[in-house]
Amino acid sequence: MKKWILIVVLTATSLCFSQSKKYPTHYFRNPLDIPLVLSGTFGELRSNHFHSGIDIKTQGVEGLKVRASADGYVARIKISHWGYGKALYIKHPNGYTTVYAHLKKFNPQIEKYVKKQQYKKESFEIQLFPKGKKLRVKKGEVIAYSGNTGGSFAPHLHFEIRDSKTEKIINPLLFGIDIKDSKRPQITALVVYPLDENAQVNQTNVPLQIPIRKRNEGNLVADKITAYGKIGLGITSFDRLGKAWNKNGIYQLTQKVNGVVNHKFTSRTFAFNETRYINLLIDYNRFKGLKQRVQKTYIPPLNKLSMYTVTNNDGTITVGDGTSYNVSVEVSDIKGNKTKLTIPIQGKKDTVLVRKEPKITPYYADYKVFNKFSLENITVAFPKYTFYKDYYLDLQVNDGIVKVHNETVPLHKNYTLTFNTSHLSEKQKKYLYIANLNNKGTKSYVKTVKKKNKCYTSTRYLGNYTLAYDSIPPEITLYRSRNKQWMTKFSKLRLKIKDSISGIKKYRGTIDGKWILMEYDPKTTVLTYNFSDKKFKKTKHTLEVVVEDNVGNTKTFRSIFYRKK
Ligand SMILES: [Zn+2]
Repeated sequence: MKKWILIVVLTATSLCFSQSKKYPTHYFRNPLDIPLVLSGTFGELRSNHFHSGIDIKTQGVEGLKVRASADGYVARIKISHWGYGKALYIKHPNGYTTVYAHLKKFNPQIEKYVKKQQYKKESFEIQLFPKGKKLRVKKGEVIAYSGNTGGSFAPHLHFEIRDSKTEKIINPLLFGIDIKDSKRPQITALVVYPLDENAQVNQTNVPLQIPIRKRNEGNLVADKITAYGKIGLGITSFDRLGKAWNKNGIYQLTQKVNGVVNHKFTSRTFAFNETRYINLLIDYNRFKGLKQRVQKTYIPPLNKLSMYTVTNNDGTITVGDGTSYNVSVEVSDIKGNKTKLTIPIQGKKDTVLVRKEPKITPYYADYKVFNKFSLENITVAFPKYTFYKDYYLDLQVNDGIVKVHNETVPLHKNYTLTFNTSHLSEKQKKYLYIANLNNKGTKSYVKTVKKKNKCYTSTRYLGNYTLAYDSIPPEITLYRSRNKQWMTKFSKLRLKIKDSISGIKKYRGTIDGKWILMEYDPKTTVLTYNFSDKKFKKTKHTLEVVVEDNVGNTKTFRSIFYRKK
């Protein structure tokens, strides 16, 4: 009996504990030698994910010393063309892992270890888990140099702190890593959502943007609205930190009805498998259509995001006829700077003047089940729970272009789009690929799998697709050097590679028949070889580079160079 009580008490305590977990505040140091200025905050809303770390500005340059935040060992090293570029993961004895991404290069010891593995595997892209804690580091030791590699578009250091066991990412600023910020976040727009067919806002049943204006001390007030039934609110906001001009994300959002907290969102921690729920946190339709990133202050069904810390009625407000409400939305940054928007609501059941009925089509998708539709030579198959709700899908084929509903509807999973290709010649089949068409009609390659009489792709984006062809091989040119050149004084050998139709799939470089490590930067399309990787015995050398595009067209480039040593 007593044992049971103890278990109940312990469970209750641990639940409370996880809500307000304290993180060690003097354990991790700033990974750079300069004061922290951020160009990205933790949990910030990005195009299809929450930002999982902080982006530290590196004064517009690459090559700043990156230091281990605490004692530990290198647990993982990853190099990829996109994403984190060159990244280091350091495991610490206190149960946390720090991550350093978009690096230019590692320290000489790590660099040597990585290169050896790259030459062994004959690949620039690589993922390593060094065995037996062999790469130990001390707090403050230089582990790498900051850069701009991978999906980074200005020099910066992406820094993360994760729970080593659960892999959950935690806001690094909760660990006492200090930033200067006395500026309050801004609220820039308010959108009100009627949440069922009986609800109304200013006599409409569709989402409505409400004008807001400044009141006192930077706080805001919205125009008074009339409403009835179940409604939800959404806002757009940003935060500027200290001297940085960048628009960052907020730390916390609190929505109150008549002074009582109805909804709270806090960027403390989340798991990578939650990141897709950003589709439901923001108004995806508005984001795709108007480029306006509205954060909802209510939780749509199916949203399992753990960043909601308090919520009553899922954050929705049920407005009664004849009742008035004082609603507020307050946003704050981690330093406690705040801005509040007040929204006066008058309950009034009125005639609805604007209503949007769904367009009825023969392609009804019940989100809870597997849905498959075929028309002409295409088939689309959606696994269950691909959608967040039911839709009448708009599926059409016109002049070979398949319209798979439209890109303003978010998906939680991938679906399969299959083209029957039995009517095509062998030559056409050889060069074909599936392309996504943007609004301007520009084609971009999507990963295409070819079978005998069909080809398919697995994608998470609705929109327009078509079969496209690429029979032109990639282009390869020497960059800042020429054929038969003496290169003893050069430290690097560089080439530009390009494929303007289906894009580059792979590349392979050799000197005198031996594989060489060529680092590829897809942003500049430059392949770089470091002469320091190898000692040369003779003076005349043959460089050969083979590049293949996504359809399989290959190009071989050969040139001669001379070099002593
Ligand atoms: Zn980042």
